[in-house]
Amino acid sequence: MEEKFNFIEEIINKDIEKDCKKIITRFPPEPNGFLHIGHAKSLCINFGMKDKYKGECNLRFDDTNPIKEDEEYVKSIKEDIKWLGFKWDRELYASDYFDRMYESAVLLIKKGLAYVCDMSAEQIRENRGTLTQPGKESPSRNRSIEENLRLFEEMKNGKFKDGEKVLRAKIDMASPNINMRDPVIYRISRTAHHRTKNKWIIYPLYDFAHPLSDCYEGITHSICTLEFEDHRPLYDWVKINCGYENGPKQIEFARLNMTRTIMSKRYLKKLVDEKVVNGWDDPRMPTLSGLRMRGVPPEAIKNFCAAIGVSKSNSEVDIALFEHFVRDYLNVKAKRAMVVKRPLKLVIENLNGEEIMKSRNNPMDENDLSQRDVILTSEIYIDSEDFSPNPPPKYHRLVPGGMVRLKDSYILEYLSHTEKDGKVTEVRTRLIEDSVSGGKNSSIKVKGVIQWVSAKYSSDLLVKEYDYLINEGEGDFSERLNFETEKIYNAKGEAFLSESKLYDRFQFMREGYYMACGKKENGKAVFNCICSLKDSYK
Ligand code: ATP
Ligand code: MG
Repeated sequence: MEEKFNFIEEIINKDIEKDCKKIITRFPPEPNGFLHIGHAKSLCINFGMKDKYKGECNLRFDDTNPIKEDEEYVKSIKEDIKWLGFKWDRELYASDYFDRMYESAVLLIKKGLAYVCDMSAEQIRENRGTLTQPGKESPSRNRSIEENLRLFEEMKNGKFKDGEKVLRAKIDMASPNINMRDPVIYRISRTAHHRTKNKWIIYPLYDFAHPLSDCYEGITHSICTLEFEDHRPLYDWVKINCGYENGPKQIEFARLNMTRTIMSKRYLKKLVDEKVVNGWDDPRMPTLSGLRMRGVPPEAIKNFCAAIGVSKSNSEVDIALFEHFVRDYLNVKAKRAMVVKRPLKLVIENLNGEEIMKSRNNPMDENDLSQRDVILTSEIYIDSEDFSPNPPPKYHRLVPGGMVRLKDSYILEYLSHTEKDGKVTEVRTRLIEDSVSGGKNSSIKVKGVIQWVSAKYSSDLLVKEYDYLINEGEGDFSERLNFETEKIYNAKGEAFLSESKLYDRFQFMREGYYMACGKKENGKAVFNCICSLKDSYK
């Protein structure tokens, strides 16, 4: 088969043909929040290049803005990348380059390509111009090199207040690209940094720090998202003027956006801070740690990222497609179990004693022929929705006068039922002899097959199901927040389920995929719903 390349790989292929010996990429998160599934796309691309070209991929923390950054995030980011199964070659921090970046800034000043500006952030904004109008030059723009060197050093040494002066690149206030209109590259901020503590009171800005970090590390292809396309001229300007003419090439791809969810750390942090969710790893969150707590397997995330591919135009992916990949993976991997979410007592009058039934642990996995014992007793639970005294049309479960098959067990025939306050409290039935699969009465036609749990050999479970955090529609996320996102069931399940460990995943037959939380609430083992069985992807 002919190998297919995405547009990034095509660029890389050409560079290899030309002169590029070893491909080095990096994943550069800012430690100001937890990673989300959008970051997984970037991880798959950057680490994908490493694998494909036998190159290198570094993890670099882009920690140049101490106001929002924290060690907690560094820790979670590393955990999440490992969970996805990626191994970085080097763990690096932009903050380790503060001395070098300072030297690079001094070099620019010496070349007459940077100046200390006295204007406030607001004045700079006001003088930047618009898409149709050029910006105005700052009165500080023509300071001598000597004065700039002295002032920049004084900025570093604490002579000025925060915001009193900045260092700007001297490029072109009339450039059609606003990013090139003398961008600020250093500012004063007396904020302790999570790593360098109080050593620095001036910090480089992203557009200066990022290309330099890439250059220092010998990155060959700096892959980032589309919103940085307009920054590329500045990226190249910094690279070339700081002495790295043959430095890295920036390549942009479209970020992942998905319906019914949010892909912005800033907004996700708001949900955490305002306690809309219980932390960054809440199972409703699109963060990698949230998806992990939800029960989503890392392989499913990677399969999804591979399927959506890499493109150069922004679009929104239907979240149903993501769930499709989760389901697809779990269908083959998850062991089956029977659980009833809304237990209703059912009596089998003609069952004497107990009978051991056999159930395949995973009928979708041809390598797994294992079975488990499921004990049938005369009192069992079925789901209250699987019996209806007044069945609607096309209802194929148990009804008065009807029959239904118990999954991997007998066919039952309705005898009677009791109601209290209009609610069914018990159903009485009898079983059809020899109707277990293979028996002489097993071919009797019944439409419905339902799951069941022995009353004697069952466990109490707390089953939690989730809805999307964001309602359908357009516009601001904060106006589309869904506040009813958790549903809890006091369920009954097969006895062994209460011993499940954290991350054990199951298909609860006829319901969906669930993960054990490895903990109990009020004595009940807790399970999260990963996704339902129904595939809504068109
Ligand atoms: P956010 O807007 O969520 O804060 P960010 O881009 O500021 O995201 P970074 O920590 O800077 O987050 O991201 C690290 C890398 O992941 C960057 O290269 C960034 O382009 C990429 N990335 C972030 N969000 C997405 C996304 N939704 N899809 C693909 N890549 C993404
Ligand atoms: Mg960012």
